[in-house]
Amino acid sequence: MIIVKSPDDIEKMSKACKLSAQVLQYAGEQLNAGMSTYELDKLIYDYIIAHGAKPSFLNYGGFKGSACISLNDEVIHGIPSKKKIIRSGDIVSIDVGAFIDGYHGDNAYTYAVGQVSPSAEKLLRVTKECLSLGIAAARPGNRIGDIGNAVQTHAEQNGFSVVREFIGHGIGKDLHEDPEVPNYGAKGRGPRLMPGMTIAIEPMINEGTCSVKVLPDGWTVKTKDGLLSAHFENTIAITQDGPVILTTV
Ligand code: MG
Repeated sequence: MIIVKSPDDIEKMSKACKLSAQVLQYAGEQLNAGMSTYELDKLIYDYIIAHGAKPSFLNYGGFKGSACISLNDEVIHGIPSKKKIIRSGDIVSIDVGAFIDGYHGDNAYTYAVGQVSPSAEKLLRVTKECLSLGIAAARPGNRIGDIGNAVQTHAEQNGFSVVREFIGHGIGKDLHEDPEVPNYGAKGRGPRLMPGMTIAIEPMINEGTCSVKVLPDGWTVKTKDGLLSAHFENTIAITQDGPVILTTV
């Protein structure tokens, strides 16, 4: 069931979303070669707690981290670890949410550490563009399929592929609500978009094959061919006037 929010609900939810965006930006500033993903996660945890909120992901389904931190060929759900050291030339996806005043925010960004390959640079640029195009399609009267179609078309036109097994979602009092928001699909298909819907759009775009595998740790998702994957996400509200990004600093 899709939970439609009132302008008042969205106003309240903006606080969680703004903090989610702030901690994501902070994490990007702290990110450095030589640091473990555990250290980065600890900074993220401390930041969220210091702002009176709770990390949305911590203990969600048993997840042991405040953020999902995924390196290079890891698509999503990387578990912060002392053994995982960030190196120059890596791309690092940080996915983080904050819960405060009864609402969640959720967003992700893939950062380049030092100098990355031209192909990695292109992947980051195109995935970010996919997110923007997906958001632009999230207008009242359009359907969920219009979002996925916008993302998929742009990714594939640039020679990349779209992960199918993991998708965006509605968000509000729960981290994951209806509807499902795939990053692929047909125009004009799926649930109709209405003012008051709040959704997280999160393209996961691969350099090579779209096939992925889940590691034995039960969380970490990697590309099957070992090539790079990028992930960008915003939480947005659909309004009468169009989409509004809530996860903004
Ligand atoms: Mg999400």
